[in-house]
Amino acid sequence: MADLGLSRAIGRVRDRIDTGPRFTDADAIRLNRMFRGADTSAVLEAVLKDRIAGEVAVVSSFGAESVVLLHLIAQVAPDTPVLFLDTGKHFPETLAYRDEVVARLGLTNLQILTPDSADLAARDETGLRWSYDPDGCCEIRKVRPLEKALSRFDASITGRKAFQSSTRANLPRFEVDTSDALGRLKINPLIDWQAADLAAYVAKHDLPAHPLVADGYPSIGCMPCTRRVQAGEDYRAGRWADSEKDECGIHLTDGGGI
Ligand code: SF4
Repeated sequence: MADLGLSRAIGRVRDRIDTGPRFTDADAIRLNRMFRGADTSAVLEAVLKDRIAGEVAVVSSFGAESVVLLHLIAQVAPDTPVLFLDTGKHFPETLAYRDEVVARLGLTNLQILTPDSADLAARDETGLRWSYDPDGCCEIRKVRPLEKALSRFDASITGRKAFQSSTRANLPRFEVDTSDALGRLKINPLIDWQAADLAAYVAKHDLPAHPLVADGYPSIGCMPCTRRVQAGEDYRAGRWADSEKDECGIHLTDGGGI
């Protein structure tokens, strides 16, 4: 796939991975230029087959919109590590859907991340921290387990889309994870996909839908922090509906929210 210029650029990025920090803003800018106008599959081929970003994992919530990215990845490299945060608070339907999607798409490297038992004992012994300190609950059930798991990888793939929120409207395809001192790369291959594109892709490939979508949940996270959305509400209105919170603090998911 690579012409001479692209090969040289990939080589420069690989050199940086070998010598660290993994990526700089200049690398991200270069990658965005390299793949300007390229389709999503070309980006995934370069990342997952040509390994231009080193060791890569996808972080999936197995939520309402997860299946498109997972299907695209499965077409290129079904052994890609798929990280799933099992917070202990998911809807049972999400866990069943996760297993259905993994089997259906032939994904072979699902990695289930769980909270540290000492963290739970010290900070959420009753399991009710979500009700009075959701940021703290997300910290021990999502942020810390994911940080620990991602320390093994050079880059992570997210499913974030620009249309999902104003905070995602101007995201590039490649960016450096500002929360990571070693300069891990975040890759947003679906950033320019619209809702209609996702729906068309699901229909074309006859992909399974999360069962709660038809039950009034267009965005699905943990059970205590997700409610049904009413007609006319924003599709993420059911997430942490009684608080100002609208992100879980990791910003790395496949867009369905975890
Ligand atoms: S979404 Fe709710 S239950 Fe899940 S980790 Fe965050 S606060 Fe806890």
